[in-house]
Amino acid sequence: MSEIYNKFQSDSDTKAFDLQHRKTVSFNIGKYDSAVIKGKMQYQNLAIARRLAALKKHRSIENLENSLKDFEQNFIKRGGKVLWARDAQEANLFILEILKNKGVELVVKSKSMVTEELELDDFLSKQGIECVETDLGEYIVQISGDKPYHIVTPVMHKSAKDIAGIFHEKFGLDPESSPQEITKFVRKTLREKFLHASAGITGANFLISSTGTVALTENEGNGVLSASLPRIHIVVAGIEKVIESIADLHIFWPLLATFGTGQNITAYNTLISGPRQKDEVDGPAEMYVILMDNGRSRLLSQIPQRRALSCIRCGACLNGCPIYRNIGGHSYGSVYSGPIGAVITPHLRSMMHYKHLSYATSLCGKCTEVCPVNIDLHFQLLQNRNFSVENKLSPRIENWGMRVWKMAMLKPRLMNLPGAGMKNFFLKKAFMKSWGKRRDLPVIKPKSFRQMWKDERK
Ligand code: SF4
Repeated sequence: MSEIYNKFQSDSDTKAFDLQHRKTVSFNIGKYDSAVIKGKMQYQNLAIARRLAALKKHRSIENLENSLKDFEQNFIKRGGKVLWARDAQEANLFILEILKNKGVELVVKSKSMVTEELELDDFLSKQGIECVETDLGEYIVQISGDKPYHIVTPVMHKSAKDIAGIFHEKFGLDPESSPQEITKFVRKTLREKFLHASAGITGANFLISSTGTVALTENEGNGVLSASLPRIHIVVAGIEKVIESIADLHIFWPLLATFGTGQNITAYNTLISGPRQKDEVDGPAEMYVILMDNGRSRLLSQIPQRRALSCIRCGACLNGCPIYRNIGGHSYGSVYSGPIGAVITPHLRSMMHYKHLSYATSLCGKCTEVCPVNIDLHFQLLQNRNFSVENKLSPRIENWGMRVWKMAMLKPRLMNLPGAGMKNFFLKKAFMKSWGKRRDLPVIKPKSFRQMWKDERK
């Protein structure tokens, strides 16, 4: 078993029995759940909207190569530059080259999961470039040296009191500061950064191929400031973000808002088609879009699993997942956690080292039920397991156990040969570790059903 798997086991074991963690996460998800009920009320027929969104994403993914080329052409026509990055390392080097060439020392950055794949903040700080997170949640993550806990709400694992404690420790604020007081403090600090930064880095919620447009969605206005105030705007986007037309946003924007935060529509939705044009008064002088693969083509090559590329990163499957709620976001040991993380991480990183995530599930199907773009997540988890077995990646002990199990199931007489004591012994040997020390293994009774049936008939 790999180190990554062992860490996952021990971290999840600790978190699952951390009652304070459970209380904080349940409280935060509880607020989300009630907001989503209200958000859904804006729909007359939610099922149709979801089907339409799924269909549109499906079409873009099936036609990915052409859609990306169209995006590139149209974006270049408006004066933007497109760079294709095979992996996170290449994307980092592109960003560094742009920033170094222009002598940039301070960068403002809005929330973006794809830049988490790059570990961009650390990378730039090692190169002597300050990169400031400007989303409130991400800012808290950054100053506390943490990692985001959730795709949408990076500090889901912290209570208001925990956050006040961080600001007291880092900036000497009153430990009883209210969220409003903290927000005011952060706003003032960040305003200075926005005014002095020479470059802004954002992600992209959608890339529109027919117009070469980047669509950004956020609630704090920091994304639009990062994109428009500095001289240079760099967008880092996964290649799967592309959709066909601006008109499709009337389906995606409300769905993302409803399932992401329970809003009817997110507060700021911005469309950016290239750098500032001659007749425009604001916007960056230079704009780059880095289209990053980083394992996505590998996922695309798996026909049953490629549906996972339709994800719009709303976070609903994390909130609904009983496993996520218990083991929390950090235990997954990957940028993407919860059901979608368990599905895509083995493809984006390595099936060999992350396949265990696809086993960390109850397969209850709640993730599939809540996904706004109808990704059959629990089926995808099974697909990953199948892939892992087919490619001989499962541990030898498991293969051996399955062979014995199959033999016994096909020949009931063989199954009845060893006594219950012997069976319990083997059960313990094979499953005790994965079953966990806090649960009792099922015990095989001295008499089998077949024997009991015989006795009964006598
Ligand atoms: S898989 Fe579906 S529910 Fe999960 S984050 Fe993506 S879009 Fe949302």
